[in-house]
Amino acid sequence: MKTYSITDTGILREMNQDYFFASDEPVGNLPNLYIVADGMGGHKAGDYASRYTTQRIVASVSRNPGDEPVTILKEAIETANKLLITESAEDESKRGMGTTLVAATVIGRHLVVANIGDSRLYIINRDIRQITRDHSLVAEMVRIGEVPVSEARKHPDKNIITRAIGAGDDVDADFFEVDLNEGDRILICTDGLTNMVEDQDIRDIVLQNIPLEERVELLVRTANRNGGKDNITVMMIE
Ligand code: MG
Repeated sequence: MKTYSITDTGILREMNQDYFFASDEPVGNLPNLYIVADGMGGHKAGDYASRYTTQRIVASVSRNPGDEPVTILKEAIETANKLLITESAEDESKRGMGTTLVAATVIGRHLVVANIGDSRLYIINRDIRQITRDHSLVAEMVRIGEVPVSEARKHPDKNIITRAIGAGDDVDADFFEVDLNEGDRILICTDGLTNMVEDQDIRDIVLQNIPLEERVELLVRTANRNGGKDNITVMMIE
């Protein structure tokens, strides 16, 4: 397996509140671990939230003696959520901070993914498949048929997310388990990519016959060329 990741501030934002962690080597009892987080909260709180949460999850996974990947990730997310809420209660400047999270591990041909918020994990082969389900107001309106799919990306309420780490005492992550096929590429990213680049264009770039690093760079460059309105994080595993 080969992994390459970039996080970029984008064109419009002054700070990068995204954060990522990637290890192709074991972390505790998981054979590898991939995390992308998009922090929110004013004045340095957002970047603190995404970094702190990622680091707490890595620490918790490292120490967990269990052997069930979903349970290991679930316990790590619950621990990180509690710690983040404590941090935000203790420090006025961090009040209300939170973060999205995608955490994934590949066990042989089996992918396990945890998701909270609107960062995404895709599997790209001939087609592009979004595995995670966005926890956003607009995505929920699409699911109940109030907003057509074609209008979702441009919707004014696009940024309202309905679940986040740090938003409450109970954190409700979705888990997805997928069997991987030969040639599947895994893409984990924040909304700074997906709001700027259409899924089909993401697919076309991922399938180009150039080195992994150049394709990841091209995804970031395309998001910036299309406006770069938010921080952009792209992680590709193949
Ligand atoms: Mg974002």
